[in-house]
Amino acid sequence: MKALGRHIIAELYNCDLDKIDDVTFVENSMLAAAEKAGATVINSTFHHFSPFGVSGVIVIQESHFSIHCWPEFGYASIDIYTCGDTVDPWLAYEYLKNELNASHGSTIELSRGQSNLISASKSLHPTPLKKPSGEPTNIKRSKNVWFTERNENIALSLKHSGERLYNYTSKFQKIEIYQTEAFGRILVLDGNIVCAEEDEYVYHEMIAHVPMFAHPHPKKILVIGGGDGGTIRELLRHENIEQIDLVEIDEHVIKAAQEHLPKMASSLIDKKVKIKVEDGIEFVKNCGTGIYDIVIIDSDDPVGPGEGLFTKTFYNEIYRILQNYGIMITQSESPRYNIHIFKEVFQCYNKIFGRENVHCYLMYLPSYPSGMWSFSFSSKGGIDPFQNLANEKINDFCKRSNLKYYSFDMHNSSFVLPKFVRDILL
Ligand code: SAM
Repeated sequence: MKALGRHIIAELYNCDLDKIDDVTFVENSMLAAAEKAGATVINSTFHHFSPFGVSGVIVIQESHFSIHCWPEFGYASIDIYTCGDTVDPWLAYEYLKNELNASHGSTIELSRGQSNLISASKSLHPTPLKKPSGEPTNIKRSKNVWFTERNENIALSLKHSGERLYNYTSKFQKIEIYQTEAFGRILVLDGNIVCAEEDEYVYHEMIAHVPMFAHPHPKKILVIGGGDGGTIRELLRHENIEQIDLVEIDEHVIKAAQEHLPKMASSLIDKKVKIKVEDGIEFVKNCGTGIYDIVIIDSDDPVGPGEGLFTKTFYNEIYRILQNYGIMITQSESPRYNIHIFKEVFQCYNKIFGRENVHCYLMYLPSYPSGMWSFSFSSKGGIDPFQNLANEKINDFCKRSNLKYYSFDMHNSSFVLPKFVRDILL
């Protein structure tokens, strides 16, 4: 490598005035440009000036990107500074030029830290962290690197070890796994945390055990999504289950979980589990009628491959493939974070299953935006979520299984909704 870094200084002219005056658009474009170039985003900060103008910086593992926009001149000046040879800064420049609708640009590339002008210091070695005894450990000092999940208004940042344990973009989505300090390993799909080692039990215990104890004799289960294996692990605690069909669209999610999230994925090889790597929407279309006791939709958000899993057509198919006393459980988003989707899907369930057969229950999951998340419980044939509950039997099961969230009391109290949630569902 002839130089430590490549520095592109770019001028963009006749840009779209509204776009370069929209701080969220500029930030998302810069973040996308960094991804396109193959860079690892560490953190970013963007600011909108009054009356016009946006400035922002992205720190990447491979150095930084910065931008200053003058909408009053239709002009944007950009610095793309990258180190190492895994990132192509020109990909970022081309992407931004298109995104900001610049009519033209001018650029210059500088080599920074040219090897013939610098020499490596012989005395500098990374200092390992010390044990309480003062003994050095073999852990390298953390790099103060943060993973941030964000939407327009809310962001959650988690400090991680600096390296991505897994990073692969499949034909469906970008799959990443980080080792975070506060939540252990996290599985991230298209920038959203879908499960974290430290609190995944909350989600997986509640999505599995509520229907399993509500249904009189659950034997045949369908899980759509759920490639991380957590829901399957909980279902398999119930010996009376005969078969679980797991329909996951992306084999790479299963692979990533098996490699890096064994506490969740280890149960995927159980002989009762039949894994089908296919689109759940197509699978249910080709499914026979009335064959499942319980269908669990363990999907991520209604974007990308999961979008079709939040539609009336899809839910009608689920209704068809359920046995007479069948139960459908869906992760139904957050009544605090995505109110519109939450409201829409429950209106849809009410139309298909009948309002009296549709219930909402909540759980509290710190690694999900707003920490409050919901499930829907819809039953064909009017099973009440509480009718088959046996307190002792459930609590014996929870003790034997060493559960940390679900219990007889949590089953009952999770259906008790705060007024603001009941109002949304009116
Ligand atoms: N608990 C998580 C959440 O709430 O975000 C979901 C976890 S699980 C990993 C979600 C899985 O659904 C992903 O592995 C994704 O690949 C899968 N998925 C998305 N769309 C799908 C589809 N149409 N058919 C089957 N699986 C799908």
